[in-house]
Amino acid sequence: MKKIDKSKALFEEAKNLMPGGVNSPVRAFKNIGGSPIFFKSGKGAYIYDEDGNEYIDFIGSWGPLIMGHTHPKIVHAIKNQLEAGTSFGSPTKIESNVATLIKKCLPSIDKIRMVNSGTEATMSCIRLARGHTGRNKIIKFTGCYHGHVDSLLVKAGSGVSTFGLPDSPGVPDNLASLTISCPYNDKEYFLKVFDEVKKDLAAIIIEPVAGNMGFIPADKSFLELLRNVSEQNKSILIFDEVMSGFRVALGGAQELYNIKPDLTALGKVIGAGLPVGAFGGKASIMDQLAPDGPIYQAGTLSGNPLAMAAGEALLTELIKINPYKTLEMKSSYLLDGMADIMKANNINFVKNQMGGMFGFFFSKNMPRNFDDVVSTNDNIFNNFLNACIGQGIYFAPSKYESGFMSTEHDEEILKSVLDKIKKIIEEGL
Ligand SMILES: *Cc1c(COP(=O)(O)O)cnc(C)c1O
Repeated sequence: MKKIDKSKALFEEAKNLMPGGVNSPVRAFKNIGGSPIFFKSGKGAYIYDEDGNEYIDFIGSWGPLIMGHTHPKIVHAIKNQLEAGTSFGSPTKIESNVATLIKKCLPSIDKIRMVNSGTEATMSCIRLARGHTGRNKIIKFTGCYHGHVDSLLVKAGSGVSTFGLPDSPGVPDNLASLTISCPYNDKEYFLKVFDEVKKDLAAIIIEPVAGNMGFIPADKSFLELLRNVSEQNKSILIFDEVMSGFRVALGGAQELYNIKPDLTALGKVIGAGLPVGAFGGKASIMDQLAPDGPIYQAGTLSGNPLAMAAGEALLTELIKINPYKTLEMKSSYLLDGMADIMKANNINFVKNQMGGMFGFFFSKNMPRNFDDVVSTNDNIFNNFLNACIGQGIYFAPSKYESGFMSTEHDEEILKSVLDKIKKIIEEGL
């Protein structure tokens, strides 16, 4: 095990300053009974903590760092912009550059607006959908996390599930009652609910590849059903690709499934590790936004030049090298290797990967929805994660999260991870 005395002391101090000692709940590592590690620096696939320990990072800041930590091209872009100015509160050319790069990869987006987080992106999509349709109800899917938006904090996976909070106090019942949550990948259940609420249905929002109840891709026919019925009913189909955008493919999950949503929420990768979100879609809908339309949405630091510079550098590079096949091969190499180790030790284990995103569960069958995930083994998962962290392998601290591969994880690194995992498993969890 690693010595993390400094992290522990820093956490004690932080707990007096911030609720739970953190600025975002999953960071507290509460669910696996650990103490969070305080990091100081990163390079490529590696991160370094305050005690000087080295870890191979499979979280990548929860997705954004698809080209690893402190990539020279991104550092260079940020440095250049830093010297030119960090914020002007006025339009800049660089915002249009990023918008152009995103549009090039996601043809469903005619127009886009930048915001500062994924939460802001989904929140704005919901307001826009309601304003555009003149309706109020939203259908979401249990275990999908769309940020901590009041209307969407209903049966949301990830951090909310990790702490077993079904909904959050502070979300008014009459607002939450406008959001109906259906099981993921369940057509029959969805159609029943849809029939009941369709008259007042503003939008259907989904993670087309779910990354916040572990990693569970949607069935293609399920997404096609959502596309068809929302079109017929003139409800807005929103793909929340905050995590999957530029992560599973250049064009996100919508490219892989070949389905065009009306609106898309983005975040994470497009900011290259700086705080950015964006939402975009059909011009006829987007043009309803202020200042052209009546639906209000704004942000003092939206389209922040530093964040846009980072995003532009990363997206330009991703378009140039299109790393998604290679990323998926690396993920397969890691997970196939893990599956072999588990099999040899009679441990039930299932896994899946898409581009630079992956997931695994200690279970006989592959989960298809949130309830399936809940029933997978917690004990083995948590013991495994703790053991991995002790060996310098930094996986997300909960079975409700995904794993992230970067271009900087090479075969040698992945082989060393498999060697360590083999030892962990053979020694017993
Ligand atoms: C991370 C995430 C969000 C929220 O983004 P923040 O930047 O944390 O507000 C929304 N939707 C999905 C699918 C996410 O993974």
